[in-house]
Amino acid sequence: MAKPSPEDRRAELVELYHHLRDDHDCPLKAGRRKLVFGSGNANADLMFVGEAPGAREDELGLPFVGPAGRLLEQLLGEIGLERKDVFINNVLMCRPPGNRDPLPDEVEECKPFLKKRIELIEPKVICTLGNYATKLLTGSPRGITKVHGEPQQREIEGRMVTLYPLFHPAAALRSTSVLDLLRADIHCLPELIAAQEPEPEPAPDEEQLGLFG
Ligand code: URA
Repeated sequence: MAKPSPEDRRAELVELYHHLRDDHDCPLKAGRRKLVFGSGNANADLMFVGEAPGAREDELGLPFVGPAGRLLEQLLGEIGLERKDVFINNVLMCRPPGNRDPLPDEVEECKPFLKKRIELIEPKVICTLGNYATKLLTGSPRGITKVHGEPQQREIEGRMVTLYPLFHPAAALRSTSVLDLLRADIHCLPELIAAQEPEPEPAPDEEQLGLFG
């Protein structure tokens, strides 16, 4: 099937954003300042999925714009990437009150919309940041300490994608040994992205017509 153009992907994401911001009720809507839909490149090969917006994200409506986000940007810079090259989003789109952990029903409520963003963007590699995103998308209870840096193939919305669990940058801000592990895993990303199967080229016209020689 033909891949959607970057413009079509962007238009569909904008439509989904407006729907979620204006028409969708969820348990956290009343307490949020802004919906944090996700931001970046609608056509990205690489997606990051964090846990939930914090105070700064809630204020600006953008993901990872506080201290953890600055660290993520720095580490991306070390492998030659910028925010505009990737798509960054979270499991939850609204900030839980007082930055508490997401509740299971909040995760269930938001899950279809994370999957929808994955379906629209079609990233080749998804870095799950920390335990929430990792356990949700791998479907396994194995925690980040065990699985970080281990690529895993999963089917999401009918498409195979490589999940690459990473420590959450907020955890790396609290511990230099976690920072070293996160940095080492991120430095393996360029090779992992390059190793993804290229999509098969459409057959040339002559071949479709059976015209050889
Ligand atoms: N932590 C997250 O998981 N997501 C953000 O957007 C910011 C901090």
